[in-house]
Amino acid sequence: MNTKDTLKLNRRKMLAAATAAGVGMTLSSVAAEAEEHWDHDTDVVCVGGGAASCSAAIAALDAGARVMLLEKLPLLGGTTAKSAGVVWVPNNFVLRQNGVEDRKEDAMKYMARYSYPLEYNPGSPTLGLTPFNYALIEAFYDNAAKTIDRLQELGVVKFREFRLWQVDQPCPDYADHLPENKTPVGRSLESAVGWGPGGGASLAGQLEAWLRAKKVPILTKTRVTRLVVRDGRVIGIEADSKGKPLRIRARRGVVFGTGGYAQNTELVERHQIALYGACAGPGATGDFIGIAQEAGAKMGALGTAWRSPVLLEEALQNRVLGIGAFWMPGDSMILVNKYGKRCVDEKRPYNVRTQAHFHYDSTREEYPNHLMFMLFDQRTLDAFGGDLPLPPWQTEHPYLLRGESWEALASALSAKLQSLEGKTGGVKLSADFADSLAATIAGFNDYATQGKDSEFGRGNQLYDRRWHLMVSARRQGTTQPENPYPNITMHPFEKKGPYYAFILAPGALDTSGGPLINEKAQVLAHDDAPIPGLYGAGNCIAAPSRGAYYGAGGTIGPALTFGAIAGRNAARETPA
Ligand SMILES: Cc1cc2nc3c(=O)[nH]c(=O)nc-3n(C[C@H](O)[C@H](O)[C@H](O)COP(=O)(O)OP(=O)(O)OC[C@H]3O[C@@H](n4cnc5c(N)ncnc54)[C@H](O)[C@@H]3O)c2cc1C
Repeated sequence: MNTKDTLKLNRRKMLAAATAAGVGMTLSSVAAEAEEHWDHDTDVVCVGGGAASCSAAIAALDAGARVMLLEKLPLLGGTTAKSAGVVWVPNNFVLRQNGVEDRKEDAMKYMARYSYPLEYNPGSPTLGLTPFNYALIEAFYDNAAKTIDRLQELGVVKFREFRLWQVDQPCPDYADHLPENKTPVGRSLESAVGWGPGGGASLAGQLEAWLRAKKVPILTKTRVTRLVVRDGRVIGIEADSKGKPLRIRARRGVVFGTGGYAQNTELVERHQIALYGACAGPGATGDFIGIAQEAGAKMGALGTAWRSPVLLEEALQNRVLGIGAFWMPGDSMILVNKYGKRCVDEKRPYNVRTQAHFHYDSTREEYPNHLMFMLFDQRTLDAFGGDLPLPPWQTEHPYLLRGESWEALASALSAKLQSLEGKTGGVKLSADFADSLAATIAGFNDYATQGKDSEFGRGNQLYDRRWHLMVSARRQGTTQPENPYPNITMHPFEKKGPYYAFILAPGALDTSGGPLINEKAQVLAHDDAPIPGLYGAGNCIAAPSRGAYYGAGGTIGPALTFGAIAGRNAARETPA
């Protein structure tokens, strides 16, 4: 296993050995290595304690390498442990067992179309993508199901089909309705142990437990700060371990799985239009960006994120959030902008719904949807209270605004926005907000009665309807009747108040940009050549899906997969 011996190599012996072996070491590199002090010596160093890094450590160990895992926080798990632990895996074992053929050519089209809508061309051999981007998505398809199968064979995690809570139905993809999606349901898996909010803790716990059972050295409170590079090859890392400097030699490679930068306000300020808060763990400070830049890495997709709206005031209190406003529960509920107009299908998935916050009005030269207002009535509160962000059933909630009429609610919103103007870019309601809202409500009531939202198509997609049922569970004891209208996602608003509002702002689960990797999970330098010995996976690198969230588990699926690719390839490197 790993030695703790300090390597004090004899310079002359090493020079002689190098010459005899004919290895192309320069005098300077040999000299530098001879003087190198290492606290540990291993084959593969995996940095981070979440899905990507743990998957890399498992794969590297499985490939016969000696492995160490480093985590800067006192506990492993990262954002993975906060998540629901759902994993998006095309052609997974459950689909195969059920006789569903999720063919590569079909899955590739879905992913290419969703990730690169501007480039997508079904007639091209690379579907219109650059060969580089095509290869990344292809590597994901080719390795995702294999990664899950191997984790099961090794006894790391047992998976099962992810079924939507409440409705007990398999989960539709986030763009189930795209014609390119030939397997719109069933690509999401979860750990067979633990589910729902505890699913991620269960997944992360099982990854860690397996590594510990295999006696992989795991150092917590150990923050990697630098790469050690000799002759262009990464040969180790430097870290701050419990306040002391630490140097670890990695003879085959270093894999980063250190999460995104959603909790680094400086990077957020630099790369995002607006990101008020994120439910990423506190370790998501983008450490790999600076570390990799120093080693000459090329960056990609730095402005992307796995997006979710957040409750504005909650995020202003503390930008490290427990959960985002992932879903919009309720049927007599809409989202409007500062002009009192609806601006999105309220039932769309969090990642794409957040992008509606960034719509730019080229005449007014502004982002009219920068903040959105989630409006609902007493019916929705009574019937669906407790489905986040709705409070359980009482109306007390620190950020819930209430008005006895729509006009009163508009006044309450106005006053609240004024009190927050220094933190929101001065967003205020338009002068005709109340009139405009009255027209919006009347229009929505018609849509609900007819069952057809002719503006945004709410409820048209299977995703909208099935996830609505899951996230709009009827509150036990509610006296509200079931929705009798033809489109389950919509119900006319009550004619009388009280009415309620939450203020929503753009936020994220975590960011998804960073150093570029290739299909072997090697980090690329500015000349597009891999930086020898350096790998990355998960939210710390430029996501191979480039911001498209294919379905539930769309971040952990690629994190586990590219983590495994990275670990395996690092283990196969010729030792430095
Ligand atoms: C509430 C919630 C629910 C979610 N549900 C899902 C879901 O069901 N499915 C899904 O796909 N995604 C989900 N996500 C998103 C998902 O959790 C993340 O995208 C994913 O877990 C990221 O994995 P990772 O391995 O890249 O990073 P992380 O899990 O964040 O792990 C990175 C680790 O690296 C450590 N680290 C950082 N810098 C250093 C350093 N310099 N040295 C050493 N260690 C360092 C961090 O402390 C952290 O522990 C959810 C997120 C949240 C918040």
